[in-house]
Amino acid sequence: MGICEMNKAVLFDRDGVINRLVFNPQTQAYESPHFVKDFELFPWTLDSLLELDKSDYLLFVVSNQPSYAKGKTTLENIKAIHDKFHTILTRTGVTFTEYYYCFHHPDGIIPKFSGKCHCRKPEPYFPLKAKKDYQLDVSASWFIGDRDSDIYCGQSAGMRTIMIDEPHSAGERGQSVPEFWAQDIKEAEKIIHNNQ
Ligand SMILES: [Mg+2]
Ligand SMILES: [Zn+2]
Repeated sequence: MGICEMNKAVLFDRDGVINRLVFNPQTQAYESPHFVKDFELFPWTLDSLLELDKSDYLLFVVSNQPSYAKGKTTLENIKAIHDKFHTILTRTGVTFTEYYYCFHHPDGIIPKFSGKCHCRKPEPYFPLKAKKDYQLDVSASWFIGDRDSDIYCGQSAGMRTIMIDEPHSAGERGQSVPEFWAQDIKEAEKIIHNNQ
């Protein structure tokens, strides 16, 4: 018998799951934060991430960030938001193995970041990259998101899924069938703990 050491992971969508969505008066919609001052974690986020990090799951972020491609913010702002997030995590002692961001959008206005790409959810490009790079047992790994595209992404990679019932993204779900629903990642953490 050979030894086959595989890892378990939890992959998180970011906006609406880890941090709050932000009301954009121009579009009258709740969107990803476009400025550092708008990036705000939910009150329970860090405790929930710490719990998962203490158990033997690797943590990943898989996030579509098309705001620059759409002309809504700058790449510098998107990077500054990521830096703020990473700094808070480091201070708290939460380790994400990788942050995977897609900056493209099919209908973007910035040519270099517009058009069809291979990495935008629901494509499972990043979960499959994590599987390959970190020897993930996908059937024991989880994808958590607040949109149908998150659930399709996780399921296409063979992962278990939890839909977060974030009120401001309700219009982005209703087609996919996640294995579980949760109010927030605090509840999702308990679901994972109880369904290993
Ligand atoms: Mg989201
Ligand atoms: Zn992409």
